[in-house]
Amino acid sequence: MFHSRISLIFALLVSVPYRTVAQAAAPEDATPPADPQITAALADISAQRIQADIEKLVSFQTRLTLSAQDPDSIKAGRGIGAAREWIREEFERYSRACGGCLEVKTDGFTEDPADRIPKPTVITNVYAVLRGTDPESAKRIVLVTGHYDSRNGDTFDASGIAPGANDDGSGTAVSLECARVLSKLKFPATIIFLTVAGEEQGLNGSHHFAKMAKDQAWDIEAALNNDIVGGDRSPQQNPSIVRVFSEGVPLAATDAEVRRIRNLGGENDSASRQLARYIAEVSRTYKTAAKPLIVFRLDRYLRGGDHISLNEQGYTAVRFTEYREDYNHQHQNVRTENGIEYGDLSKFVNFDYVANVARVNAATLASLASAPAPPARVRLQTKQLENDSTLTWEASPGSASYEVLWRDTASPEWEGAQLVGNVTHATLPLSKDNVIFAVRAVDGAGHRSLPVVPQPER
Ligand SMILES: [Zn+2]
Repeated sequence: MFHSRISLIFALLVSVPYRTVAQAAAPEDATPPADPQITAALADISAQRIQADIEKLVSFQTRLTLSAQDPDSIKAGRGIGAAREWIREEFERYSRACGGCLEVKTDGFTEDPADRIPKPTVITNVYAVLRGTDPESAKRIVLVTGHYDSRNGDTFDASGIAPGANDDGSGTAVSLECARVLSKLKFPATIIFLTVAGEEQGLNGSHHFAKMAKDQAWDIEAALNNDIVGGDRSPQQNPSIVRVFSEGVPLAATDAEVRRIRNLGGENDSASRQLARYIAEVSRTYKTAAKPLIVFRLDRYLRGGDHISLNEQGYTAVRFTEYREDYNHQHQNVRTENGIEYGDLSKFVNFDYVANVARVNAATLASLASAPAPPARVRLQTKQLENDSTLTWEASPGSASYEVLWRDTASPEWEGAQLVGNVTHATLPLSKDNVIFAVRAVDGAGHRSLPVVPQPER
């Protein structure tokens, strides 16, 4: 897909030389280079570790947000409190292994009664912060999350078995395994490994986290939500594909932004869609076994997830989910009826698949945390009618160059890429009426920032 039209545009660039276009990107150069450190980290991700994590989470019998969290239950290893303590201890164990490189946090708050919360309930997010090594870049945050609460057929059944191996033991295991592997490395920007509760009761944990981050003006550049990434072993499953859902018109868009999107055809260019495209590109760079299937949709029918809490606060966030879900194996009481096995059990999870999804996540987190910040104030000059297109932007610290990307308006992914050097403007012999542009920052090692689609300036 990436290369389907690039040769045409390449020919156009060659036949219409323009002095500010140094050289057109050859198709084989279109995929950014791999970073050997990231390649090694991906090899360190272990399906066996992930299996052990998921089986441990299942061993707590239920992780319903309304289930037990008193000291005796924690000691007995039953209920969401025991799961919370185990996750915290895992993060602390990884931190000891890296000389205390992780700040491990538990953020508990009391949620008032609501539709699925019959009485005031303490909900606790558990996360680990791998602080960036560069004082300025450390303010930039990329994060991975999964929800550690589970449920069965009844969202109020606080004591019945709710194994939640796939939903969302798998996503919790992705967050833990990314923490274990990436905490061995250092990055200029900050990575947060998050696990939230309350998802099944109404996205309560993620809502609390996103609002806290917004109130404290955290610069969360990208959030990866993994929910149901177990690769359920049904015969119709495609274990080589992971779906990546992203919002179109941003949930947090102002009226003025919606008007601009409507006028200029920006409905496929939210920051979350740039993140989805970035994930697909990272997957090509690192040749991951799980191939992202980009879905231009906020989430699946009848379902939601924790990325929505982040989108609502204006953050860039996407959702990873297995290719084909088996509804007998989620939100169901464990039982056998008419020969059909129901329930979210470990035996239906494909641990190699979860590891492959964790590799896509880790590669994305590491690439973004290694890259410079995206350029700010990216503008497309529209002062007059002309067929060339001039882009301007502000320099991003640590950048060695900038790359202009473009694609046909009807194409899902970027088709052309042009490195323009360490400058803050570029003019390309392509009509802004016919393509969508973006600009991204590139460091000396080739790490790419998220692309930024320009706003018009006249
Ligand atoms: Zn879920």
